[in-house]
Amino acid sequence: MKPIPLHHVWQYTDVDREFWARRLEDWLPPNIIDAHMHVSDPALRLAPMTDEMRRQYWVNEVLEPMDFTTADHCYAVLFPGRRLTCVGFGMPDLDFDLEAGNAYAQQGCHNRGWHNLAVVRPQWSAEYVSRLLDQPGVVGVKPYYALISRNRETRDAHLEAGIFDFLPHHQLEVLNERRAWVTLHVPKADRLGHPDNLRDIRELRRRYPRVILVIAHLGRCYTEIHAREALPPLADDPGLFFDTSAVLNPASYRIALEHIGPSRLLFGSDNPILFMRGRRQFHQRQYVNRTNYPFHFNRDREPPEIEALYTLFLYEDLWAMRQACQSLGMDDPRTAAMIFHDNAQRLLQLMSESKQKAPP
Ligand SMILES: [Zn+2]
Repeated sequence: MKPIPLHHVWQYTDVDREFWARRLEDWLPPNIIDAHMHVSDPALRLAPMTDEMRRQYWVNEVLEPMDFTTADHCYAVLFPGRRLTCVGFGMPDLDFDLEAGNAYAQQGCHNRGWHNLAVVRPQWSAEYVSRLLDQPGVVGVKPYYALISRNRETRDAHLEAGIFDFLPHHQLEVLNERRAWVTLHVPKADRLGHPDNLRDIRELRRRYPRVILVIAHLGRCYTEIHAREALPPLADDPGLFFDTSAVLNPASYRIALEHIGPSRLLFGSDNPILFMRGRRQFHQRQYVNRTNYPFHFNRDREPPEIEALYTLFLYEDLWAMRQACQSLGMDDPRTAAMIFHDNAQRLLQLMSESKQKAPP
């Protein structure tokens, strides 16, 4: 069949169709919640993406804003026969109009019966965050350390920030009161296992126990070493959740399934980034993204016959998760239903119940 254009430079091809049919179709449940996806109106960009920025950081090259119409199209192509809803949010990037981005994501998510997280800056007042949470369909927030202050030279100016520097206590008090969902992308080059992160997460859980805390990308534990350092120390907190977005590594998933367990993992994609075609390879604490598009970061290409077999990163991610499930005897419909739908559904239910109870 002819390739179907997806988004940006990505297409859906016969390789993807076959991958879906052979490795994923019989595993994924009929209802799926993608708990981590970015949706934005490209017109809300305030400053242009420059070639210099594209060279700085691979994500700058692949994270083209995706609007709702495109998201609807891509999900229909990627998940045939599935009913898919999202917890969607805008671009956590100060080169975009955050307020307008929140309004766009809120309206589009609400219209579709999806849920939405407001992207928040640490400077915003408790009252303002509270008003964002009042909007229909908004279940929580998405803070990010790059929102502390703008820096076009590097995405990592605030990488070593502490969690409370970009998710401050005055906001956490409101979030706790409102039983809000927080998707937390942890800081630090050492990722989730950094002692400060482990300490801050325990403090956050102790002081704000009603916050629904979802650690994004398994705590950025893309490599086995990072997963082994970070996940077992947090295994004993049954109220701590993790999304699977952009992990792609069977070894990380295996550690998560063994230590955290399937009832605390939520499927998330990190789309539109995961429409990228290729595969990821792991060496100790590093990973390499392989893709067939001539991006700046893609200098060390694999042979054409290997590139011809590439599927979407998202499918690779799902297959990595399934392989981990298989290796642990968890390749069953019940486990898949938990990770892909039921866990997120349970948390969304908690939030909407407290929203209904809130005084007008
Ligand atoms: Zn993301």
